[in-house]
Amino acid sequence: MFNLILFGPPGSGKGTQSEKLIARYGLKHLSTGDLLRAEIANKTPLGLEAKSLMDKGQLVPDEVVIGMIDAALTNNPKARGFLFDGFPRTKAQSEALDALLKKKGASINVVLALDVTEDELIKRLLNRGLTSGRSDDTKEDVIRARITEYHNKTSPVADHYNKFGKVVLVKGEGSVDEIFGDLTAQIDQRIDQ
Ligand code: ADP
Repeated sequence: MFNLILFGPPGSGKGTQSEKLIARYGLKHLSTGDLLRAEIANKTPLGLEAKSLMDKGQLVPDEVVIGMIDAALTNNPKARGFLFDGFPRTKAQSEALDALLKKKGASINVVLALDVTEDELIKRLLNRGLTSGRSDDTKEDVIRARITEYHNKTSPVADHYNKFGKVVLVKGEGSVDEIFGDLTAQIDQRIDQ
């Protein structure tokens, strides 16, 4: 298996690059943001609980997203590998993910971390809010809250994988194709062709 974490703050381009990467490498895309938005669309109890937190720019509880990822791993036993997008977002989530993969005899192969300045993130997210229909993209205070959550709770995920030498920083500004080129160069060095 080849398991990749696409890492970076909100607005760094994880969703855009994920779509292109799964098409190239045949990985299964697991986005906790997308999974949570599907729960909201289906008006499930979990979705209702998550929505109020997401609308404030706060993270949903670890056990909720870990449960969703556990189920997704179980439901895709034949996957060539997984691309994790927006997960793990806390140190506890990264430890839980490592344990879940270990049960499958697998691990995270690489963490590709998209590097984008804060001004650029805010500009991109406000711009996305004009068309995305995502209520968490329309208010600047909510966007800033998400970036603060990222600094406080999510950056320890990079520290965790850095201990194992698994983190590679990739420039997240430039054209979509340039960034994709940099990401694929890193993956090609590590994946069995
Ligand atoms: P973005 O990266 O642009 O913020 P996402 O779609 O990844 O967008 O996440 C949207 C929201 O969903 C987050 O602000 C958070 O409230 C919630 N969320 C997504 N993934 C996680 C996670 N792994 N842990 C906790 N909350 C999450």
